[in-house]
Amino acid sequence: MSAQILDGKALAAKMKENIRLEAAALRRQPGLAVILVGDNGASQVYVRNKVKDCSDCGIACFDYYLSADTTQEQLLTLIDELNGREDVDGILVQLPLPAHLEERPVLEAISPMKDMDAFHPENMGRILRGDARFKPCTPAGVMELLHEAGIDPAGKHCVVVGRSNIVGKPMALLLLQENGTVTVCHSRTPDLKEQCLRADILVSAVGRENLITADMVKDGAVVIDVAMNRNAAGKLCGDVDYAAVAEKASYITPVPGGVGPMTRAMLMANTLTAAKLRENR
Ligand code: NAP
Repeated sequence: MSAQILDGKALAAKMKENIRLEAAALRRQPGLAVILVGDNGASQVYVRNKVKDCSDCGIACFDYYLSADTTQEQLLTLIDELNGREDVDGILVQLPLPAHLEERPVLEAISPMKDMDAFHPENMGRILRGDARFKPCTPAGVMELLHEAGIDPAGKHCVVVGRSNIVGKPMALLLLQENGTVTVCHSRTPDLKEQCLRADILVSAVGRENLITADMVKDGAVVIDVAMNRNAAGKLCGDVDYAAVAEKASYITPVPGGVGPMTRAMLMANTLTAAKLRENR
């Protein structure tokens, strides 16, 4: 079997165009505030991409570049100001923060109504309860890819490798919400291969090149590679041994061009949702 490619780049472009049309139809232009603290090179690229996505979607972008020595208090003051601003529907603080800043109080300071990453405990609790207001961008992007290809997790065995709050845990909950039977694996899982071989839908979100090899994948499985690693040649790659696994899987996401563009599109979708929620209040 040679897998069909789940083309995140194409789907993200389609979604962004729909978002642009919906945003233009609102009474007020939606607005997203993006805060970057420090000069992490990868984070700078991510923020630049977000600014571009906003421009593509007709969303106002308020980008803040704070110096690496910004204090916790200064950051919290800015978030407080943005929470109160009428022209800001969504707030995103680019992670990771410099080591001297505490992540949790910063993420909890963002109003749950403007929490575009859905990291606030209220939004995480809603995801757990099954009535999400905003969904974390990466797992939500994976669900969109599945929906677009007509892949229904209901009744399927879904194996999620990785249990971070950002990807693995919410991924498992979204699959469960759609009636998948979900197994979550992590660094203490002793029999990763056996677990993966049971998967009808396998999602890997670890960050280790070639963690998932063809002998760990059942014939016809759907394989989603969330990871973004650099290989020895400096090329972007995921967790999955793509060429070999594509021979066994029914569907597979490439890296790049799979989950990454969907994560970006879902941030725009969450901003639109936030703007609509405020318009309807
Ligand atoms: P993370 O916080 O480092 O979590 C990694 C998870 O992998 C942890 O739960 C860890 O288990 C587990 N793990 C580590 N080694 C393992 C092993 N040998 N076998 C099984 N599980 C193992 O990372 P993250 O933030 O979730 O991100 C994961 C990957 O996705 C990274 O490559 C990141 O760059 C990528 N990512 C991509 C996007 C996108 O848009 N495409 C978005 C976010 C993240 P423990 O909990 O036991 O330590």
